[in-house]
Amino acid sequence: MSNSPVHPRRGLMLVVSSPSGAGKTSLSRRLLGDHAELELSISCTTRGPRPGEQDGREYHFIDRAKFDVMIEQDAFLEWADVHEHRYGSPTAPVMAALADGRDVLFDIDWQGARMVAASAPQDVVRVFILPPTMADLKRRLHARAQDAEDVIERRLGRAKGEIEKWTDYDYVIVNADFDQAFAELAHIYHAERLKRMRNPGLEPLVQALLNEPL
Ligand code: 5GP
Repeated sequence: MSNSPVHPRRGLMLVVSSPSGAGKTSLSRRLLGDHAELELSISCTTRGPRPGEQDGREYHFIDRAKFDVMIEQDAFLEWADVHEHRYGSPTAPVMAALADGRDVLFDIDWQGARMVAASAPQDVVRVFILPPTMADLKRRLHARAQDAEDVIERRLGRAKGEIEKWTDYDYVIVNADFDQAFAELAHIYHAERLKRMRNPGLEPLVQALLNEPL
């Protein structure tokens, strides 16, 4: 897809949530890789980096004091306590991207999804990723081998509470097969981009079509 649209458009906020291990991050990264006009909202977190994670790429890794200063400064579009740590989406880069006609993807939990949707209901599209079975979720968390056993157990313990929030979302994808789930996510994104209200820049084209003599 082109990075410089011919017609000015209104950017959207694509919120993707799931219990840990349902494949949301891999699906999101692939969508981002395929679309230069879609950028990731890089969250701040007070948790430490996992092996392979880089500050400023997956997250901005900051301490609790810095996080709380950012809350006081109203620097977050949303923030929440998740798995005993704080996570938040900084507002400024999101606003800059949207003002530039780009779209923003959020890999955030249901609490954040609610807050972002409340702040801009027209511009938010919410997608929930379900695992096909709980056994599959457990297997993926272990296969990822990035977390200690007690962390995995805590994440599994929270999974059902997160799954219960699926009714908040506009779309739901069951990630039984990665390629299929990715195709579904891409279809949702492409269709949402084509919504009439997101393409006010088409007005002159429509006027020109209507004014053209037959
Ligand atoms: P993880 O520690 O596995 O990277 O993320 C744990 C959970 O926190 C995931 O469900 C992830 O989507 C969520 N999360 C990550 N960043 C944010 C954020 O900025 N805000 C909120 N509300 N949740 C987040």
